Amino acid sequence: MPSQYFIIADGAQSEFRRKLNLRMEGETLFYNQAWYFRAPDLAKLFARTQLSSMTFFLNEDCYGDILIPQTAEGHWLYHVTPMPEGVEADDWPTFRNMLYRSIGEEFEVFEPQGRYFGSQVRLAASFNFGRALLIGDAAHLTSPFGGFGMNMGIGDAVDAGWKIAAILQGWGGPRLLETYTLERRDVCKYIIEGAAHNNKVSGKALVRPYMEEDSERGEKAREEVREFIIREKTQQSRSFGAQFGYRYTSSPIVVGDGTELPPLQYGEYTPSSVAGCRAPHLWLSEGNSIYDHFGPDFCLLKLDPAVDTTALEAAAAEVGIPLKVFLLDSDEARSLYERKLVLIRPDQHVAWRGNAEPDDCRWLVDVVRGAASFH
Ligand SMILES: Cc1cc2nc3c(=O)[nH]c(=O)nc-3n(C[C@H](O)[C@H](O)[C@H](O)COP(=O)(O)OP(=O)(O)OC[C@H]3O[C@@H](n4cnc5c(N)ncnc54)[C@H](O)[C@@H]3O)c2cc1C
Repeated sequence: MPSQYFIIADGAQSEFRRKLNLRMEGETLFYNQAWYFRAPDLAKLFARTQLSSMTFFLNEDCYGDILIPQTAEGHWLYHVTPMPEGVEADDWPTFRNMLYRSIGEEFEVFEPQGRYFGSQVRLAASFNFGRALLIGDAAHLTSPFGGFGMNMGIGDAVDAGWKIAAILQGWGGPRLLETYTLERRDVCKYIIEGAAHNNKVSGKALVRPYMEEDSERGEKAREEVREFIIREKTQQSRSFGAQFGYRYTSSPIVVGDGTELPPLQYGEYTPSSVAGCRAPHLWLSEGNSIYDHFGPDFCLLKLDPAVDTTALEAAAAEVGIPLKVFLLDSDEARSLYERKLVLIRPDQHVAWRGNAEPDDCRWLVDVVRGAASFH
C-alpha cells in the first residue's frame, strides 16, 4: 500500500524541503566554532573549582567561550561564539591558545576536530504542504543557546502524530491536518526568538573593560556583568515557561471559555487548564502521574462524580473518537483544574473545559477533531 502521508524530517539541509521549494524565513545570527577533542588531564585542572556541565569563560580579549565535558573518558567540546574577528575557522593553534588562556594553563589535547556553524533563526513559511509535513530542523532552526532544537522537533512530532493517527483511524476531520502549522509555527517562533536572545547576550556582549583586573574597578565590572547575567541570561538555563507553558489558545480546534490566561513567560511556568494549555501535571501518589491515566487518546477528566457525561460520550462515539473518561475525586485536582470537566487531547493539551456538558456536544467533538468550519 503506498504511503498516504509524508513526514519530512531530514534535518537542517532538508533535501525534500528544497525539492518542494518551501521557503525558510529568517537570518543567521552569528557564526560559531566548535572544537571536539580529547584531553584526559583537563578535568584535573578543575580540582579547585566545580566542574559543571557548562563552564562559560569571559575574557577581556573580547571573546566568550564555553567548555562542555562530553564523556568521563576525557572528551570535551570547546565552543566559541561568536567567531572572533580575524580568526579562520580551521586555525586550531589560535583556538587552542584561547582555550589555554581561559583555563589559565596548558595541557595535552588530542584529536581536535573543528565544526564551523551558524546560529540560525529560521522558520519555514508553512509546516504543511498537502499531505507532506515538515518536522524538526527541516521546519525550523534555532540557536543552540537554550537547548531547544530537538525539544521542538519532538513537540512537532507529537502534534503531527496524533493528528495523522486520527485521520488514518477515520475520526480526524478534513481541517485537522492544517492545524499542525497553526499550532506549532507560533510556538516554535516564540522559542526560537528566546534562544536568539540568549545567544545575543553571550560572548562579547558580556565582556566589560577591566573585568579581569584585581582592583576596585575590576570588582565593579564583574558586579555589573553578574547583574546583567542574572537579568538577561537566567532564562537560558531556567526555561520552564518555554518548555511547559506554550499554549495553542488561538488554535481553531480548541474551545476557550474566555478566562484570562496566565502570562506566557520564557523562564517561569504557571500551570493552567485554560483550553489550549498543557494539562497541569499532578502526582496522584508516589510514582503515579495524572498523565499516565489520560491514555493515548482523548480523555475526559471528570473531577466531580455527580456530573453527567453521557451526552458527550455518546457524541464522541458517534464520530468514532476514542474517549476515555477518567474520574478523579480529588480536591487538589479540582483546585488545580478549576472546572469539573476537562477534555484533554492525545498530546495532553486541553481542548475544552466546563462545569457541565456543553449544550451541543456534537458541535464540540466536531471542533476538536477538525471537522467543523474554522469561520
Ligand atoms: C551545538 C549544538 C547543540 C545543541 N544542543 C541541543 C540541546 O541541548 N537540546 C536540544 O533539544 N537540541 C539541541 N541541538 C539541536 C538538535 O541537535 C537538533 O535540533 C536536532 O538534532 C534536530 O533533529 P532532526 O531529527 O530534525 O534533524 P537531524 O538530527 O539533522 O536528523 C535528520 C536525519 O535525517 C537523515 N537524512 C537526511 N537526508 C535523508 C534522506 N534523504 N533520506 C533519509 N534520511 C535522511 C540524516 O542522516 C539524519 O539522521 C543542538 C544543536 C547544536 C548544533
